[in-house]
Amino acid sequence: MNISGDFHVHSQFCPHGTSDRMEAYVKQAIESGLTHLTFTEHAPLPADFSDPAPSKDSSMPAESVKTYLEKARHLKKKYHDKLVIQVGLEVDYIAGFEKETCRLLEKWGPLIDDAILSVHMLRSPVGKFVCLDYSAEEFAAIVSLFGSVDAVYQAYYRTLLHAITSDLGRFKPKRLGHITLVEKFKKTFPPARIFEQEILEILSLMAENGMELDINTAGLYKEYCQSIYPPERFIRQAYELGIPLVPGSDSHQAAQIARGFGNLPDLQYALPQGI
Ligand SMILES: [Zn+2]
Ligand SMILES: [Zn+2]
Repeated sequence: MNISGDFHVHSQFCPHGTSDRMEAYVKQAIESGLTHLTFTEHAPLPADFSDPAPSKDSSMPAESVKTYLEKARHLKKKYHDKLVIQVGLEVDYIAGFEKETCRLLEKWGPLIDDAILSVHMLRSPVGKFVCLDYSAEEFAAIVSLFGSVDAVYQAYYRTLLHAITSDLGRFKPKRLGHITLVEKFKKTFPPARIFEQEILEILSLMAENGMELDINTAGLYKEYCQSIYPPERFIRQAYELGIPLVPGSDSHQAAQIARGFGNLPDLQYALPQGI
């Protein structure tokens, strides 16, 4: 296995994470023997989009972006002989908010090295947005809103397809985040069927569009999930399709850097192509 870095990492700028400083993540990465680290803090949501998470803490506030980028630049210089540090954003794909997202990317794109496009927000059948991965209680409410677990899965995978084909401009992220995040609570809310076809369709569309796959180990540590996003058979499928596999721990705490990388299938992993 050739994993040299952790390419999906949060920081103290994430309001739902820990207060661990970026430098603590950097030190942990060096200690873990990594040569690369990419910060991908949650990008601010569009100004006219109301965060559906009950505590409204899904993303970094817009006024923090400048400081976040400055801190990263400072660490880049300070540790340049030990670690390649890149700074990026995890950008939400929100159906119907493509123009606003494109504008955010136009603003921040020139200042970042890399980005991930993720779906956390789903539009429910009644038009209200929900945050998919907030809590098991919230997921239960989402299931009621959609009518069934399968309907939530269906909507999630459909939204991912739209994310891949959406026009988000020249700074559209090349990497798709945790493509089975909908499985976060699967042990409590199991779907009635396997969404194999949907995931394979997503992978082939990603290959067609030259996208990278975020191989995200956070799911291994979620009580009701306990599997990688996506599970191993899909990672292998993606590999066969020639999709670059980019590992990430999705750490919200310094001690979690490179967590679970030993559980990844023995394949060739890629460095991000960058924004
Ligand atoms: Zn987060
Ligand atoms: Zn995410």
